[in-house]
Amino acid sequence: MKIIDILKRKAPSVSFEFFPPKNPELEHILFDTIESLKGEGADFASVTFGAGGSSSDKTLAWICRIKESCGIAAMMHLTCVGFRKSQVDGLFGMLKNAGVHNILALRGDMPKDMPPDGLSMEFPHASDLVRYVKNSGGDFCVGVAGYPETHPESLSEKDDIDMLKAKLDAGGDFVITQLFFDNDKFYRFRDRLASSGVNVPVVAGIMPVVSASQVVNFTKMCRATLPENLLKRITECPEEDVISVGVDYAARQCADLIKNGVDGLHFYTLNRSAATKSVMERLKKSGALPA
Ligand SMILES: Cc1cc2nc3c(=O)[nH]c(=O)nc-3n(C[C@H](O)[C@H](O)[C@H](O)COP(=O)(O)OP(=O)(O)OC[C@H]3O[C@@H](n4cnc5c(N)ncnc54)[C@H](O)[C@@H]3O)c2cc1C
Repeated sequence: MKIIDILKRKAPSVSFEFFPPKNPELEHILFDTIESLKGEGADFASVTFGAGGSSSDKTLAWICRIKESCGIAAMMHLTCVGFRKSQVDGLFGMLKNAGVHNILALRGDMPKDMPPDGLSMEFPHASDLVRYVKNSGGDFCVGVAGYPETHPESLSEKDDIDMLKAKLDAGGDFVITQLFFDNDKFYRFRDRLASSGVNVPVVAGIMPVVSASQVVNFTKMCRATLPENLLKRITECPEEDVISVGVDYAARQCADLIKNGVDGLHFYTLNRSAATKSVMERLKKSGALPA
């Protein structure tokens, strides 16, 4: 099933993002997480891709597992920095054999330990990968990343939207955003896209906070704003209460997004089920999402 067909049919869609675990203990946790989230009615799930293809086998294996055990559409993240066309061609074949029709086409972050001139630059930008995937003949549905608070390397808001538009003009079917906590920033981003003539679905990236130090690091890395009131609540409450504060914030954030016509909610689960499951339960109980 192509994700764009789901997004055209249903709003808001719900999706969960996972990453390939690094050791057997963490693999067990992810198995349990997938089992626990199975009944939550997600429309699709995605699995991240390590920079430079370091996790490509594992990413594909987890996508196949999720697809088989949950019976929902699956999407492979594919980062192209340092990747060669021949490597991407190899992945196309594997995805087709596995019946996976969806790719989130990304540039990826530049590896810190390798100078740019030491990398293959067959795909300098995500738009180059989008074009390549769309011209591959593989009939893939392609998602791209968007940044409500602009990508850290973008020169301006306008530059950021122009580059996102380039990915959509190259064939991107929909956008999934970077995590954000301030809905006004998402609404302004959506307005900027609409003013530029973009009319593809824009799925909101949601991360229920489970740890104060972790969210401070994440937001610094991706330059998302952590609202003062949320920061105060998670740093001043007892550590064991951070998850319930994070769930409360994310549930209110999602309810407001749904009220304002969001196309989809994409949960960064961090491979744990408790927070995402609680947010989903709150949204269903309040009637914001169907039970
Ligand atoms: C939903 C989502 C999922 C992600 N999943 C992963 C993952 O699985 N693995 C991973 O490693 N990372 C992942 N990332 C992080 C992502 O790889 C980084 O944010 C990366 O720095 C940029 O990727 P991009 O695809 O947005 O790049 P691009 O769209 O190529 O943009 C990167 C920067 O280059 C600029 N730019 C783009 N095109 C041009 C051009 N033609 N000329 C000049 N400048 C240009 C853009 O404005 C931007 O500042 C994800 C991010 C999101 C939002």
